[in-house]
Amino acid sequence: MAEARIIDGKAFAAGLRARVAEGVAALKASHGVTPGLAVVLVGEDPASQVYVRSKEKALADLGMNSFDHHMPADLGEVELLALIDRLNADPAVHGILVQLPLPKHIDTQKVLARIVPEKDADGFHVVNAGLLATGSPGAIVPCTPLGSLLLLRDTLGADLKGKRALVLGRSNIVGKPMAQLLLQQDCTVTVAHSRTQDLPGECRRADILVAAVGRPEMVRGDWIKPGAVVIDVGINRVPHPTEPGKTKLVGDVAYDEAVKVAGAITPVPGGVGPMTIACLMLNTLAAACRAAGAPVPAEALA
Ligand code: NAP
Repeated sequence: MAEARIIDGKAFAAGLRARVAEGVAALKASHGVTPGLAVVLVGEDPASQVYVRSKEKALADLGMNSFDHHMPADLGEVELLALIDRLNADPAVHGILVQLPLPKHIDTQKVLARIVPEKDADGFHVVNAGLLATGSPGAIVPCTPLGSLLLLRDTLGADLKGKRALVLGRSNIVGKPMAQLLLQQDCTVTVAHSRTQDLPGECRRADILVAAVGRPEMVRGDWIKPGAVVIDVGINRVPHPTEPGKTKLVGDVAYDEAVKVAGAITPVPGGVGPMTIACLMLNTLAAACRAAGAPVPAEALA
């Protein structure tokens, strides 16, 4: 059997970013509005600093405003909520992103709930989750599931109707919204998790397998239906197999095995990862379009 087609998330994300940049220029020209994202980082977690820097760079590259709020680790919850209130009221701010995880003394749910839903660029607010779950217009869709769906559509064509989809993982930020998006596309959706019985058997029935479990290479080649499309959301850092003291990134799927069975598969890195930031940019543009009364880019509507 031929090896799977490699789904090039890096190339797709580059194209999406170019489309967002065009949308930004068009909104500036038509409405005099520059989309702006407030990026709130509390503390000095090194991984969070890297993520935040790459988001701020992407905003600048695409012609958007980046309002950076890098706060000390001992910032109080009351002060953080007051900052969110100020950003909610600022008309130049169309999206607000609070980099997670927050320090332990701050209630994350309380902070996320304080963001007005229309500025919730990450799509984590319960109102946006509810709009997505009920298929209502105006939902801001979480970036990683949205990026995964865009890759799936590009791979399978727009029509996912009737396909059997298995989402492995049920987190609020990936698994659950991914399942909602696939349902909206008329897939027959199963959501698997740590209590699922016969996980390999469930996976083997799926035409579309989305792995978002956070366990390095857990999904083996013989769990995959021949010809299935595999979207590997996992990002796991593991010891390098041949270079002592070094690490490498692997997904939730055993890629070398899966590539021999699947019809198409996302690599790690270079698959879903680059789509997440590109979709954050898309969500920020979409929020600015809504605020200005301009048409929202179709890709953001999922
Ligand atoms: P999470 O909140 O830890 O959720 C993991 C899910 O997997 C849970 O629903 C859990 O089930 C399930 N699970 C854990 N162990 C399992 C097992 N042995 N068998 C079956 N199910 C199991 O993780 P997440 O935030 O959704 O992230 C998942 C992965 O995606 C991680 O590797 C993360 O780094 C990656 N990620 C990537 C991006 C990106 O940009 N590409 C963005 C976000 C996340 P229970 O609910 O029963 O506990």
